[in-house]
Amino acid sequence: MLDRKAFSDLARKLRSSTQARVIEAADLRRYSRWKIGGVASLLIEPNSVDDVRRVLAVLAEVPCPKIVIGDGSNLLFDSRGLDGVAIRIGAPLSRIKIEGNTARVEAGSWVPHFARAVGCSGLGGIQHTIGIPGTVGGLILMNGGSQRKGIGENLVSARCADMRGDVREYTKADCAFSYRHSALQDKALVVLDAVFELTRGNAGEIRREMISIMAERRRKFPKNLPNCGSVFLSDPEMYGVIGTPGFAVEKVGLKGLRRGGAQISPLHANFIVNVDDASSDDVLWLIHRMRTRVHEETGFWMDCEVRHVAPDGAMRMAHGSAAEKFANATVGV
Ligand SMILES: Cc1cc2nc3c(=O)[nH]c(=O)nc-3n(C[C@H](O)[C@H](O)[C@H](O)COP(=O)(O)OP(=O)(O)OC[C@H]3O[C@@H](n4cnc5c(N)ncnc54)[C@H](O)[C@@H]3O)c2cc1C
Repeated sequence: MLDRKAFSDLARKLRSSTQARVIEAADLRRYSRWKIGGVASLLIEPNSVDDVRRVLAVLAEVPCPKIVIGDGSNLLFDSRGLDGVAIRIGAPLSRIKIEGNTARVEAGSWVPHFARAVGCSGLGGIQHTIGIPGTVGGLILMNGGSQRKGIGENLVSARCADMRGDVREYTKADCAFSYRHSALQDKALVVLDAVFELTRGNAGEIRREMISIMAERRRKFPKNLPNCGSVFLSDPEMYGVIGTPGFAVEKVGLKGLRRGGAQISPLHANFIVNVDDASSDDVLWLIHRMRTRVHEETGFWMDCEVRHVAPDGAMRMAHGSAAEKFANATVGV
């Protein structure tokens, strides 16, 4: 593990040899939609695709945990912080080029902005992503989408760098997309940009569809309190027998339950909202409670969509961390 001075030396080296923005002792709450998280030793925001490669080449020499983040809209950072480096792929990598029926987009592009740009060009296929507040890189990694669709359906290929900075193209087949999962999740990679195949449509109709999707989301989802979207994945088998995760949590009487500064949203029981400076443990406790109660009542285990980032950089579905932490604790309501 590196000490503070070693991280400062690394920051100096990155500032002199790359164009990245380098922040020492970064407050992760600022990079999390949940507004939860401790301090990361370093946060690095590369300035271009080439800059990502330069940053990775420097970091390859450094033995410390490294994570890749986008907009933090699907991540629970630990309140104890991150003893390592967060590489943030954001606004500086947000070029979009539309030609014919294809779009090439950089990974830091804001998803609603990309969906709008594509729709306004009279191209359809990704309208369902209009309300997803993350980056295209995060969306690809999570195979995110809505209305039972995933962005992988339209992906042709994604260019990714490994942690040494070597770049390779991954085809749709390589990505092996399934519901909210891609094979890229199991590799240590940075998505740089991607090509999507779209369908020619009517710009006015596409726009109207996106407005209606946004209106529906505004009606259903909590919007004024920090949250990370749906906490649990919808399992088709459970859906057929019980219903959505939100319905199941409501049915077992946990809607509105509060722990510390976190609360199961009284509006939508598959959302956890940060009502008052919540800690990561507050959220993990609620996740464990929701999951075990639903299992006791229905026999189904719900798995998380949200990923927890441990202080050592390990990133995994949040229910795993929750179980490890609270399995032996008394969690009765
Ligand atoms: C209010 C709200 C509503 C939401 N609604 C939806 C929805 O309808 N459908 C849906 O699918 N999701 C939804 N989400 C979840 C989230 O927005 C998506 O999963 C999003 O695509 C994640 O993008 P991000 O940039 O925030 O990724 P992050 O949360 O920062 O990261 C998510 C994962 O992607 C990885 N990652 C991010 N960028 C890169 C990159 N460039 N290269 C390699 N790995 C990368 C991270 O390591 C992490 O494993 C919602 C979230 C919120 C807050």
